[in-house]
Amino acid sequence: MSDPTYPADAYRQACDTANRAKDLLENAEAAIARVREIHQPIDALNVTIGKGQQVCTGCGKDDGNWEIWPCPTIRALDEGGRL
Ligand SMILES: [Zn+2]
Repeated sequence: MSDPTYPADAYRQACDTANRAKDLLENAEAAIARVREIHQPIDALNVTIGKGQQVCTGCGKDDGNWEIWPCPTIRALDEGGRL
């Protein structure tokens, strides 16, 4: 068991904490990237208004229509800042 009152042990513990934080950040970034791959914009024709618009490839509505881009998932991610 290390003693954090010794500089070498405190340094080692700080490095372990930083490495764990780095792993967590990398895992979170990878998860966000996977979500963004699912929620891509694609051009579609909105027959109701008679013109094209972008919709999300990963989201649909209960009524069978596509979700307009950016969908709620992408908006939620973007509120936290783009990685
Ligand atoms: Zn989406």
